[in-house]
Amino acid sequence: MVGSISTAVILALGFQIKGLAETKKNKEDTVVTEARLLIEAGKVTEAESKLAAALRSNSANDNIRFAHADTLYKLGRFHFAADEIKDVLNNNQSNAEAVLLSGKIFQSMHHPKEAVEAYKKFQQMKPDDTRSQQYGALISVLETEARNDSRKKTEQSSGDNYLAAVAGSNLLRWNLDKPISVFVKDGTAIPGYRTEYEESLRQAFDEWTQATDGKIRFAFTQDPSLAQMSVVWTDDLHAPAMTAEAGVAKTAFGASGIESAEILLLTLDPLKDGPLGKNRLFNTCLHEIGHALGLQGHSPHEDDIMSSTLIVQQGLSPRDVRTINALYSDKATAERTLPDKDEYGRPLPPSLLCQRHVQEGSVAAGNNQFDKAISEFEQALKIDPKQERAREGIAIAFNNMAIEKETSSEKSIELFRKALFWDPTCDIARGNLNSYLQSMGMDPKSFDVRVKLAEQCLKNNDVRGAIVEYAEALIYRSDDNTRKKLEALRAKKLPPN
Ligand SMILES: [Zn+2]
Repeated sequence: MVGSISTAVILALGFQIKGLAETKKNKEDTVVTEARLLIEAGKVTEAESKLAAALRSNSANDNIRFAHADTLYKLGRFHFAADEIKDVLNNNQSNAEAVLLSGKIFQSMHHPKEAVEAYKKFQQMKPDDTRSQQYGALISVLETEARNDSRKKTEQSSGDNYLAAVAGSNLLRWNLDKPISVFVKDGTAIPGYRTEYEESLRQAFDEWTQATDGKIRFAFTQDPSLAQMSVVWTDDLHAPAMTAEAGVAKTAFGASGIESAEILLLTLDPLKDGPLGKNRLFNTCLHEIGHALGLQGHSPHEDDIMSSTLIVQQGLSPRDVRTINALYSDKATAERTLPDKDEYGRPLPPSLLCQRHVQEGSVAAGNNQFDKAISEFEQALKIDPKQERAREGIAIAFNNMAIEKETSSEKSIELFRKALFWDPTCDIARGNLNSYLQSMGMDPKSFDVRVKLAEQCLKNNDVRGAIVEYAEALIYRSDDNTRKKLEALRAKKLPPN
């Protein structure tokens, strides 16, 4: 009996699901048809909003997504159209209409090479379609354009750059193993904001990608918590440093180079009473992204996008292109190993040498060369034991070394302790140490456990480890005897690492 009841339920459910799916399909067709009618009536923006709303409630549907890509393309929002059509093609590579539309979008974004690839693919898929012939003529034009592009790039690659002026003593870069994730906050509610601003912004990101031949890539995310770089629009003319360049870029550094960046962009022209012109906005976007990528200072040449005044620029100059490539060149570190004497052969002041070791250490840590990083930071700390960035850097290097190199738990624990020895405020290393201890069956928040661990360290001649463990024990209970032991250890001259 029980068996037959469940079959009936399944049948009924199966029927119901089918029914639901059919209504859903009808709804999709309706939205796409409505959008088409709106487009025919010249109301493309309305069509776009309708399709975007439909996608929010049913994001898995490729018909709606294709129609959305098409409206975005018609609105000139090419980068957003490209995102959408990429999704459609990811689900179904043999969608010939999507392939064709992707070609048109690439062509509009001035990516002739990708456009040619798409048009050729469409021809292969639909050799008898009249549009295949039409695009045949276009392909040869675009192929010439692509060739000219790459010739221009080669011509641009030789000549001077302004890296020395913008990088100062700190050569810091992003780790480019993965694309840099970017969140752009919706600016619709900000006075002066126009939708085309976001297209200009996306184009600006794209220009830097093109300038580095795809070495610097960006991945756009809707989730601010996943973003390494964020862009926020503002109409606050009094925000700090705004009047000078209609934008601000703040970068945060860690031992692995630049770890995050925040770009603030003005929607209003600080010099005029009104919204920012398109060219000015585009140049500002390029300029602030340049700062965020590690071009920290300004170029001395007026026609470069990284010049401190943005008036005459036409996008990135050849010198801009050379400079960003110099910054991210593998040789950049070696080229920038500076002598330790000044131009008259006198030794450089210790503070400058110290700074230099911190800089070298940061770059090495960013390239996961932990041994080199640690040795550079140590040399900096030998000159100035209080150098905060060196302490932070060496702690992060030890911490990352424990995480990146798959060593034994004991070895990792030793490395986390070294991190905490140099920087007792490094909560990441503390959290990691505690969870390792926990995974080994110990309670990291027990005073007694930590004192015992300290004694174990001493037995193994690990004085630094003991210092860390006694200090951790004192977090959980104050105890005079332990504090005295800790002070005695700290007063000792320590053996080398
Ligand atoms: Zn600037």
